[in-house]
Amino acid sequence: MIVCELISVGTELLLGEITNTNARFLAEQMAAMGIAVERQCTVGDNPARLREDFLAAWERSGIVILTGGLGPTADDITKEVICEALGLTLEADAFQMGRIEAFFRQRGLPMGESNRKQAMVPAGCVVLPNENGTAPGCWIQKDGKCAALLPGPPREMQPLFLSELKPRLAAYASGVIVSHHLRTIGLGESRMAELAQDYLDLANPTVAPYAKDAESYLRVSAAAPTQAEAEALCRPILKKLKEILGEAAYSVDKSLEQTVIDLLRASKQTVALAESCTGGGIAARLTDVPGASDVFGWGVVSYSNDCKQALLGVQGATLARHGAVSAECAREMAQGILTRSGADFGLAVTGIAGPGSDGTAKEVGLIYLAVADRNVVLARKLETGRNDREYNRIAAAKQALALLRELLLTQQP
Ligand code: ATP
Ligand code: MG
Repeated sequence: MIVCELISVGTELLLGEITNTNARFLAEQMAAMGIAVERQCTVGDNPARLREDFLAAWERSGIVILTGGLGPTADDITKEVICEALGLTLEADAFQMGRIEAFFRQRGLPMGESNRKQAMVPAGCVVLPNENGTAPGCWIQKDGKCAALLPGPPREMQPLFLSELKPRLAAYASGVIVSHHLRTIGLGESRMAELAQDYLDLANPTVAPYAKDAESYLRVSAAAPTQAEAEALCRPILKKLKEILGEAAYSVDKSLEQTVIDLLRASKQTVALAESCTGGGIAARLTDVPGASDVFGWGVVSYSNDCKQALLGVQGATLARHGAVSAECAREMAQGILTRSGADFGLAVTGIAGPGSDGTAKEVGLIYLAVADRNVVLARKLETGRNDREYNRIAAAKQALALLRELLLTQQP
């Protein structure tokens, strides 16, 4: 299998001023084409270091793709450095020179010597026309290997890659890589990895645990000559992992909110929300899904005690005795929204997202969730142990949806 390396050029990347979305885009594209990206590196606008990194990549790999540093300014050095490293000369490309001259003429702008530099290309390379900017890309083939030089701005790089480079790389692709995510909630990443232990050393498919937004995933990736064969390799492993992880594994690839909406829709039921610390975060997640109105119509953001009493009927005595962040309050919120909305489920959340506590001795990250239907009210305490407002709000919203899912599953025949 041919191996590819990505080199992102730009000091602003090293300074953390911009996020390296080019590497992400290209890595995703390569994976989908079945070309293995074995290394990615980021290097500043420094000729010596770029030369060193490029030559190391060229030595190891069949395909090297570079982004950035093709512009007209003095810190744009990629073409010059790669040419020198490969022993090629730079020559003017008549067509590109004409394009750049026309670009400036049309805009009535003076064209400087530095702009001419953009029409210089490595001798013998294929020039990849850039419809969205002045710097063309280059495709260099040498000694059975290839290097591609692409502009830095994503809005130029992406269309150029798709229209010009991807078709050329297809000749090197030996198959496809398919990835699926077995998504879990409530287990935690380390527990999930422990349970899946026996599968983490497989070669094809590979199984890798990771945590994202208060959930834990197992990524199952298979390489094969065709999509169908790769899918066939993933399928039995996903099935076994689902058995091992049990109910915590709520879907393959599907989001939690979509999973909950599908369960509600299948049973022709609806949910109403009473949210405090998530501030509408659960409603936002549900309504991200097209067609959410089939199962969701009512939500109250009850951020104050007044609102909890006036709109949800939470008892003053409950608030005085247990506080707003309590199982008792969460239960009354869930029941309050259930009876007022006429929905089949009332789902409530109240907690301390941080950074400060609520004036009581309660810990930041303490969250109470409750779900009510006509027969039961379930409450659950969640302690994230983190003073991280964003994380706590995401975790609260997701765990609330997970609690609703649990109650829905008990109804399944
Ligand atoms: P230009 O002609 O605009 O100078 P260039 O090919 O020389 O293009 P750079 O100068 O390296 O590219 O980068 C120009 C801009 O493109 C950066 O300021 C940044 O906004 C964006 N960019 C560059 N590299 C990346 C990257 N890896 N990921 C995301 N954006 C990037
Ligand atoms: Mg530049």
